[in-house]
Amino acid sequence: MSNNLSRRKFLKVVAGSGLVGFGAMVTGCKGDSPDGRGWIPDQYQGKGDFPVNLKGRVAIAASNPSIERDDEKCILCGQCIEACQNVMAVYGNYPLPLKMEVACVNCGQCAMWCPSGAITEKRSIREVAAALDDESKFVVVQTAPATKVSLGEEFGMEPGSIVNEKQVGALKALGFDAVFDTCFSADLTIMEEASEFVHRLTSAKDEIPHLTSCCPGWVKYCEYFYPELMHNLSTCKSPQSMLGAVIKSYYAQKNNLKPENIVSVSIMPCTAKKFEAARGEMEVDGQRDTDLVLTTRELAVLLKHRGIDLNTVPDAQYDSILGESTGAGRIFGATGGVTEAAVRTAYFMVTGSNPPAALLNWQPVRGLTAVKEAAADIPGAGTVNIAVCHGLKNARELLDGIKKQGSSKWQFIEFMACPGGCIGGGGQPKSTVAAQPEARLKRIAAIYREDVNAPKRCSHENSEIQAVYKEFFGSPLSKKAEKYLHTTYTNRHDRLFD
Ligand code: SF4
Ligand code: SF4
Repeated sequence: MSNNLSRRKFLKVVAGSGLVGFGAMVTGCKGDSPDGRGWIPDQYQGKGDFPVNLKGRVAIAASNPSIERDDEKCILCGQCIEACQNVMAVYGNYPLPLKMEVACVNCGQCAMWCPSGAITEKRSIREVAAALDDESKFVVVQTAPATKVSLGEEFGMEPGSIVNEKQVGALKALGFDAVFDTCFSADLTIMEEASEFVHRLTSAKDEIPHLTSCCPGWVKYCEYFYPELMHNLSTCKSPQSMLGAVIKSYYAQKNNLKPENIVSVSIMPCTAKKFEAARGEMEVDGQRDTDLVLTTRELAVLLKHRGIDLNTVPDAQYDSILGESTGAGRIFGATGGVTEAAVRTAYFMVTGSNPPAALLNWQPVRGLTAVKEAAADIPGAGTVNIAVCHGLKNARELLDGIKKQGSSKWQFIEFMACPGGCIGGGGQPKSTVAAQPEARLKRIAAIYREDVNAPKRCSHENSEIQAVYKEFFGSPLSKKAEKYLHTTYTNRHDRLFD
């Protein structure tokens, strides 16, 4: 194609000529796999009418810390609008003209759905590479649970391949000074959040239902559209930010490191984690909790650029003292995982005993049903009714239902912005069948294999967690824990609505 006629302009001409269907051939997007299924979302499969008609696209502010678009690659297909409106219920749910800012919860689902690769995460690869090359810096990295069951896809492995030790080995080969496990801080989150939930259940009933807070896309959605529920959000930071705060305090002290010399990087399945890392609230004593965030896709680019193949790199183990995790911490990556992990430890906190086997294999909160309901009998606390919701469109329907009824029948509600939870995050590999349930289910199955094979299944059993409380925080919800591990929220409703 000549330089004078870009791909996008060419498709405009085609569309203007009424040649609907021609776009599939031009873009090469359809029929890529032998069974006719590729990475185009289901509604475009097998109909032979991939729409070239110009549908517009989502607006992306230049200041968006999570996503950006290369306009020359955009074919104006409108799929980003479909994802934003029909999966995430953001686009179309605020008045136009825009009031103060372009509404975006930074989820990156538009990037997952964009067939031409025009929308991508806003990359931080150069900054991470520069930090690794700077010998005056102590560069640490953490890896989220969902990356361990998806990174392999970028290196030709099947969805659901578990690459725990391979990922650690690859990060050490890149030159990181220490590799920590976000599953460790998922266990820390559970210690704080289960304590907070038990407190709310017994003494702060106006903060029930308890709404989870580890998904930054959901948190921003609540701040935009349901600010009246912000006091129901858990005040716990996410595992990413908790670990960042612990690295620059407890870890730095124990290893005689100056916090200002530490560069804290995280590998996340999520583009909204870049937004979370940039939030003003995610800072303690002038130190940012997280300095740089790479998505799973960006890590694959960096590894390939430096000639590191995940298939052949030697295995390695996470570094102490922030590297041990239990099965509970590992299931955070799947929808329902936070709930299951929290109930295991809440049960222990109330009864003094570990939960029965049924709560260690709690099927009602697992799987891809839009809204899952479950009830946990906790002796001393009664029956706790729970809902688990993933996909923000489902969240909108659930919350509008609660508003209409004037009360919630659930005491605990887990929200994850992306379909399937973090395993379906907007920063995950697109190299296989990212937008389809089969890949999500394989990643989820791998996460639960990790849980069942873990030597410890409950967060309170993690010996490194026990040590951080003994040596640094004292106890969950202590003043020190509040300072480093909890946060506040920002009402964003007025930025969109009069
Ligand atoms: S999905 Fe991608 S190619 Fe399609 S309109 Fe949106 S940005 Fe453009
Ligand atoms: S990142 Fe999410 S909220 Fe923002 S435009 Fe894309 S789909 Fe919409």
